[in-house]
Amino acid sequence: MVGNPISEANPIREALKGGRFSYFVELVASAKTTEEKLQEMAAELAQVPGLIAAGVTSYAGGSAGHDPIRIAELVKEKGLTPNVHLTCVNHTRQELIDSLLKLNGMGVENVFAISGDYPLKTGDAQPEADYDVDSVQLVELINEMRQQGLPFQISVAVSPFKYTEADCVYQYLKLEKKIAAGADFAITQLGYDVKKFRELKRYLDERGLKTPVFGNVYVLAAGAAKKFAKAEPPGCWVSPELLEIVTEEAKAADKGLAARLERAAKTAAVLRGLGFAGAYIGGTHSADHIRTIIRRSEEIAENWEEYAEEITYGEKGGFYFYDSPRPAPKPREFAQKLMDIIEPANTPAPLRSVLKGVLGWVDHHPSAAHALERAEYAFKVSAFGCQACGNCVLGEMEYVCPMTCPKSMRNGPCGGTHNGQCEVFPDRACIWVRVYDHAKSANRVEDLKTYIPPRNRALQGTSSYINYYLDRDYRPGHPPPLVQIAPAPAPVAK
Ligand code: SF4
Repeated sequence: MVGNPISEANPIREALKGGRFSYFVELVASAKTTEEKLQEMAAELAQVPGLIAAGVTSYAGGSAGHDPIRIAELVKEKGLTPNVHLTCVNHTRQELIDSLLKLNGMGVENVFAISGDYPLKTGDAQPEADYDVDSVQLVELINEMRQQGLPFQISVAVSPFKYTEADCVYQYLKLEKKIAAGADFAITQLGYDVKKFRELKRYLDERGLKTPVFGNVYVLAAGAAKKFAKAEPPGCWVSPELLEIVTEEAKAADKGLAARLERAAKTAAVLRGLGFAGAYIGGTHSADHIRTIIRRSEEIAENWEEYAEEITYGEKGGFYFYDSPRPAPKPREFAQKLMDIIEPANTPAPLRSVLKGVLGWVDHHPSAAHALERAEYAFKVSAFGCQACGNCVLGEMEYVCPMTCPKSMRNGPCGGTHNGQCEVFPDRACIWVRVYDHAKSANRVEDLKTYIPPRNRALQGTSSYINYYLDRDYRPGHPPPLVQIAPAPAPVAK
């Protein structure tokens, strides 16, 4: 692939290089706001000193909204640097590649690679959604394009605001996977708990990970707080204590505006004091509000420690990585021990070559291959909820099938879990809690950092054993390149 040199300076890249604390604003590209209005907001925001970029959302809260690429184009025209949210919701890997090529053609380098919220229910009906790749695989894909010459800068999400052991530890493991896959910087989900911001920073520092992190600073009004208190949209949460305070503030003549801007400024000051790369401001599109937050946070920057205690609205009794006791691992179940023995990756070399020969023969006899696939499925559907993907990673996922995750993730939970419950089906436990518990029992938590590539979809309905021994499946250590595309379009004339 031929690289497209982008001649304009990238303010995000420059700020990160210079180690300068900086500010983003989140521009929600909701269908409720017209393109003209978004463009008008972008023009005003572009004039705010210290603001380096706008995150342009996609599928925020599960609603498709405007095409973020189109909005990024409009934002850029107004002189504001877009950081485009690229979600995996209902996009094939080829469509993602096409979007990235389009962004490159427009001279947009900054991409926020996320799984994306699951589409909202229409009435009582749960829509079907397809996630061809997950967020870690998306980072891998963009990184491959970068290695072929396209100068993308990749940001990723992380939420330290998880208050159960499995949710919290897995968020950090997954962040490490994203960094290993090529992430340049991270942005936290929203939360109001400085103890958690500290925890994330310490986690990275202790591992020598220098990846810059922007902390989310959401300007919290009473209406939003009410929704967040119910964990809506997924990944957002506000404690009952903070909800009460914000509700009280809303009774003031200004409906709590001054108080919420002050809280946002204090949070930004604390983030700066903790060594974060910047503040990612959401909850307002007003250039005046952003100006006030930036000015005030710079004024009080030196006193940040004073405010740190104030902004600690965590979950009572919730899990903290460095402070909370961890229950002893559960004893391993018989089924897990048995699976360790029959797991193809554990097959001794001599038996492996015998099996390769036998399964090669089976593969050439369609009725035998079909019978094997059916027998495999019959066993795995009852034991694991198998969906015959033909590309089995049970061994890498502690004998939990990834296809039982509504987003078919293969590299860890999305950011939508709440106290171990699934974003899509809140009455169900997130499957990744079981993955974590099993790994903990087997003393293999570190192994969960292994990158798992997306499945080879052409193998649906075939025997994963045949595919494994004949090297057709995509698995750790055997991933195909994700990008096999033609040269990029010509650079945009500047
Ligand atoms: S990973 Fe694929 S083959 Fe393995 S149990 Fe799940 S659906 Fe079946």
